Amino acid sequence: MSKLKKELETMLELDRLNNKIIMLKDEFKNLPVKREELLNEIVKKENYYKSEQEHYEDQKLELSYIQEEVVELKKDAELATKKLSENETDEALLKDYEDKKRLLIVREEELLSSETLLKDTIEVVEEAKNDFETTKKNNENELAKLEKEEHNFLEEIAEINKKQELLFKELDKVDTNVDLVTLYKEINEAFPGGVVSRVENDSCSRCFMQITPQILNEIYREAIPDKRHNEIITCPSCKCILYIDPLDVEE
Ligand SMILES: [Zn+2]
Repeated sequence: MSKLKKELETMLELDRLNNKIIMLKDEFKNLPVKREELLNEIVKKENYYKSEQEHYEDQKLELSYIQEEVVELKKDAELATKKLSENETDEALLKDYEDKKRLLIVREEELLSSETLLKDTIEVVEEAKNDFETTKKNNENELAKLEKEEHNFLEEIAEINKKQELLFKELDKVDTNVDLVTLYKEINEAFPGGVVSRVENDSCSRCFMQITPQILNEIYREAIPDKRHNEIITCPSCKCILYIDPLDVEE
């Protein structure tokens, strides 16, 4: 059983490794987007929590103003009560007393509703804080996982690149009619992971172009060890390197 030329095996292995890189890159192409989403979610929850916290501070300040005002109004009302008790028939004093009382009641009601609002806001702030802290913890865990995955991914790529370098060194040693390393790299630019194309049914399996009998003869010749000219034959259409499986020749 004759074997495939060594350089073809080397290039097929390079194709296989290039395909693995393409697959890995595809698998990890969403990684930056995922990372961005996780980070954005933390920022969003933190901003909401902070804005609710500010809202709470504002309400608290407003409440303290109303509290102060109520204290002042109580004093005013007491004074008006005292003045009126000294001169119960004075209409101006009576009017002043009634005005003060009315205002005090209005402000006291405002104070009550402000206190209720503040209690609600405290709950919202608490909820926003919990939500932010939970999200931060969960997303940071996810981010750590992503970082590990990315690290493994880069290591795997580096490992493959190392293997490819060795294979290119092998190719460089091959005595043939072309500079194989340069040729491989050029074709790989156009057809990543698909440089070597097997001839099937007398056609290029990459571009499906029918191969002329003359080129077919050359390809068959290269498949038989003692007839080889050590030539690299490329597809006239897609420029990929053509080969035929030696088993096909023996059939
Ligand atoms: Zn082709």
